[in-house]
Amino acid sequence: MADSYDVIVIGGGPAGYPAAIRAAQNGLSVACIDEWKNRDGTPAFGGTCLNAGCIPSKALLESSELFHRLHSEFAVHGIKASGVTLDLAAMQKRKAGIVKKSTDGINALFKAAGVTPIHGHGRLLPGRRVELTTPDGAKRELSAKNVILASGSAPAELRSAPFDGKHIVDSWGALDFDAVPKRLGVIGAGVIGLELGSVWRRLGSQVVILEALDDFLAMADQQLAKEALRHFRKQELDIRLGARVSGAVVSGDVVKVTYTDAKGEHTLEVDKLVVAIGRRPYTKDLLAPDTGVQLDERGFIQVDEQCRTGVDGVWAVGDCVRGPMLAHKAKEEGVMVADLIAGRFAEVNYKTIPSVIYTAPEIAWVGLTEEQVKASGRPYKVGVFPFLASGRARAMEQAQGFVKLIAAQDDDEILGVHIIGPMAGELIAEAVLALEYSASSEDLQRTIHAHPTLSEALHEAALAADKRAIDSINR
Ligand code: FAD
Ligand code: AMP
Repeated sequence: MADSYDVIVIGGGPAGYPAAIRAAQNGLSVACIDEWKNRDGTPAFGGTCLNAGCIPSKALLESSELFHRLHSEFAVHGIKASGVTLDLAAMQKRKAGIVKKSTDGINALFKAAGVTPIHGHGRLLPGRRVELTTPDGAKRELSAKNVILASGSAPAELRSAPFDGKHIVDSWGALDFDAVPKRLGVIGAGVIGLELGSVWRRLGSQVVILEALDDFLAMADQQLAKEALRHFRKQELDIRLGARVSGAVVSGDVVKVTYTDAKGEHTLEVDKLVVAIGRRPYTKDLLAPDTGVQLDERGFIQVDEQCRTGVDGVWAVGDCVRGPMLAHKAKEEGVMVADLIAGRFAEVNYKTIPSVIYTAPEIAWVGLTEEQVKASGRPYKVGVFPFLASGRARAMEQAQGFVKLIAAQDDDEILGVHIIGPMAGELIAEAVLALEYSASSEDLQRTIHAHPTLSEALHEAALAADKRAIDSINR
């Protein structure tokens, strides 16, 4: 292993590993240092996303949705099943296999690209030097022309309800339950709280989600949020808004959660409690004194639009810097920095980062919400197309939700697209491309969409913005 590289990346999650691969593609010598250890002590690249976030959660969401649909929906298709039972151990084993394949894949990608993988802890020293501590405790110094910090994030803890790893758990713990909790409490109705609540509800838990804010999905378009809340409540996810948790204590095998709402203080008893109140940037022992790298008041590494820290040759990307904590945002920042280091043009368009919530129905959006457009004062028009009017959605028995498209009244530019319904996370890609190219609603109206597909709903929503929808009544 060399001691000196063109680029050292600290962190091998969705921000760090793509940065390392792109830097190597650009002909630079690269090492990627990562300290992640799985519960059995094995090291793995891929960070939170592959080991404890996006991938295992989507694996369980898929399995649990199949289980749920088998019970609630298959009979409508004329498929009768009896004696259906849950084998949670097998479900968890499948999830673990998918995680392993994904993380092993990074090792293969590193090998093919010529990235040197290093397991251990990296700490930035002044002068673009990095102190490496290997798992056996040995320390060495490496140096690089450029260092990319990609240390990610960690679950936020509620001081009055500390994690104990058994009854009060973070999102990683909630992905690893070995039995379906009879009563599950979730603090926080954000993306992670809703996805995890959905998994265990579908598998049979009684789920109560406590959310401090009065508004549901406050960051989303509120027409979409209202529709989502209606569906989730129909699924018997007991979502309590305006409910701020003040503490939780474990007594025997029961967690007693205290929360306050407009009516006063309440106690809720559950078997497991998931704390999903957000994530905080993770920079533990990452920066030696005097590196010059600054943290902001919330603990994020300070960077400019192009992820420069202000210290020559030191960059930071992903969850440890400002912006949405999303794997695709992390990846684009990593790739951008690797290209900038190589002297290529690169930028991230922060206005076109899609958000997806992988519940049923799925939720996805890009661009501005109607509330944001209204506040901007720009005249706008809205087109809505319900999946109820989509032949494909009806054939799939998934005709819930709608596509909502917002375009400027003056020049017809698409300002935002909001989807709740089947495969919303896939459908949003077309809207992202439209925004990336500053497309007008007319551009989408003139784009041919195959029939019968779910994507026709986006086409029809664009037509509806001008009251020219064919397959639904224009209002
Ligand atoms: P991380 O993935 O956290 O990776 C950072 C890596 O750096 C880790 O491996 C860590 O061990 C290592 N590290 C940190 N400090 C050091 C150091 N000093 N030395 C060496 N190594 C170090 N996002 C989506 O876009 N879609 C989803 O569907 C989605 N689902 C999620 C579900 C859950 C349950 C959770 C928790 C998150 C989810 N996310 C999702 C968010 C996503 O996981 C993060 O945005 C993403 O992982 C951020 O990537 P990152 O590389 O910045 O950080
Ligand atoms: P996100 O940041 O999207 O993961 O969502 C976390 C959610 O947790 C937010 O909607 C917060 O309002 C909510 N939250 C944070 N603290 C509490 C608390 N003490 N009680 C209930 N909800 C909380």
